[in-house]
Amino acid sequence: MADNIKLNSISDLVQREIEKYTHHVETEDIGQVVSVGDGIATVYGLDGAMYGELIQFSDDVYGMAMNLEQNSVGCVLFSDENGIREGDVCHRTRRVVSVPVGDALLGRVVDALGHPIDGRGPIASEGERPVEMPAPAIMDRQPVNEPLQTGIKAIDAMIPIGKGQRELIIGDRQTGKTALAIDTIINQRGKDVYCIYCAIGQKNSSIAQIVDKLKQHDALKYTCIVDASASEPAPMLYMAPYAAVSIAEHWMRQGRDVLVVYDDLSKHAVAYRTLSLLLKRAPGREAYPGDIFYLHSRLLERSCRLKDELGGGSITALPIAETQAGDISAYIPTNLISITDGQIFLNTDLFNQGQRPAIDSGLSVSRVGSAAQTKAVKSVSANLRMELASYREMLDFARFGSDLDPATKRILTHGAVLMEVLKQKQYMPFSQAQEVLDIYVAQSGQLDDVAPADIHRYLKVLDGVMDAHHADIYAAIEQTGQLTDEERHTIDQAFATVKETLAREGAK
Ligand code: ATP
Ligand code: MG
Repeated sequence: MADNIKLNSISDLVQREIEKYTHHVETEDIGQVVSVGDGIATVYGLDGAMYGELIQFSDDVYGMAMNLEQNSVGCVLFSDENGIREGDVCHRTRRVVSVPVGDALLGRVVDALGHPIDGRGPIASEGERPVEMPAPAIMDRQPVNEPLQTGIKAIDAMIPIGKGQRELIIGDRQTGKTALAIDTIINQRGKDVYCIYCAIGQKNSSIAQIVDKLKQHDALKYTCIVDASASEPAPMLYMAPYAAVSIAEHWMRQGRDVLVVYDDLSKHAVAYRTLSLLLKRAPGREAYPGDIFYLHSRLLERSCRLKDELGGGSITALPIAETQAGDISAYIPTNLISITDGQIFLNTDLFNQGQRPAIDSGLSVSRVGSAAQTKAVKSVSANLRMELASYREMLDFARFGSDLDPATKRILTHGAVLMEVLKQKQYMPFSQAQEVLDIYVAQSGQLDDVAPADIHRYLKVLDGVMDAHHADIYAAIEQTGQLTDEERHTIDQAFATVKETLAREGAK
């Protein structure tokens, strides 16, 4: 009898131990691949896996848990699935996807997981930061109150951007969207702003060209490029902007100003749609999954200006979106417009007419940036939008060819002058003082009697004269952000002389 009891308790004990053992090993941390294909692995087990956790399939193949179901886990793979077969074992890593951060990333090109892809060796990072982080709380932020100079006259004058703002660049394909963003990066030289250019689904050849241009303009030393090119699997495209903003956040937390360009989020949305459909999530409008809005809002909410107690750093975001035939009311564009603080709309017709950058001043807006504009820029550009609006309106009338009264003619001539002055070549950002000078001269009507074809020549000569004889005015505008009456008078006189000289030369 006593033996019997002993035996029973021993077998109970053993059974209990086995139960504990099997539960812990087989289903908590380890899983077995049930099926693999299209960059998705369905795994049995991994009971303890968390959403977004990094899952290791082999030495160098990782995935991320994205679908947590009752009996299986859907993982997206970050590299080629060729090495993975049904029945393979995979492990939890108890880590979320993170990227290296720090100044060592400046001048480098990295992929969406922060691995260098420029062939210049490993990156000595300061640490790692998870790609998904909550956005700074409302009470940790302060209003946008400092300008971020883009160096593009039309933007700084009419659609000003402040540090910490999110401004969407939107337009059809080949309308100069990337060009605007790259010019803005080039203009940050010497301004103590770190930049990140995040390429999503772009061609490798265009990335190489951009890196080259940044190098030529000495802008690579304060820029990091996060590249998930069109040839990479969809999960890398999905991950890239979050990696970019994590790198930026590290600098923001150190009190720095950072500019991040996402080029472009339409392709990002498509990559996420691909992932979701492969993960068998229910499709919604235009086959995008239901959380497509959240995809971009949780990304862009991470851009802000922190309050001074937290270092006063900022992330300014310039997301880019592509439209089809100028339709800004499509699904993804409307989502992005409602998340951002304004949009710069690039118009194909204007682009084809030679108006470059092809900014449509009627459909573009900046909801917070004007608070950050300097007094000088604000005062010279106050009526710009209104005047351009009446110019566009009159232009439609003028098409009927009827006799025009002098007032209408004046609006048309002045509008044409303004449009011409706002034209700007690529890779030639202007300093704030140059912008103020050009717009002031145009707005004061002094260019209205100059033929449009000559306008840029006149402005160039004036710029030379100011540089040579009135460098103090240029310096004062940069420093104080103001334009005094006295300075206006000096500019008027200088331009009168320039006009006289050039008119005489032209007459010869
Ligand atoms: P995609 O939709 O292919 O990404 P995009 O809208 O980004 O195109 P860009 O690649 O920036 O457009 O520019 C398209 C073309 O227009 C390029 O060849 C570029 O050199 C030219 N371009 C852009 N801006 C200007 C400018 N201000 N002056 C002259 N050319 C310009
Ligand atoms: Mg582009």
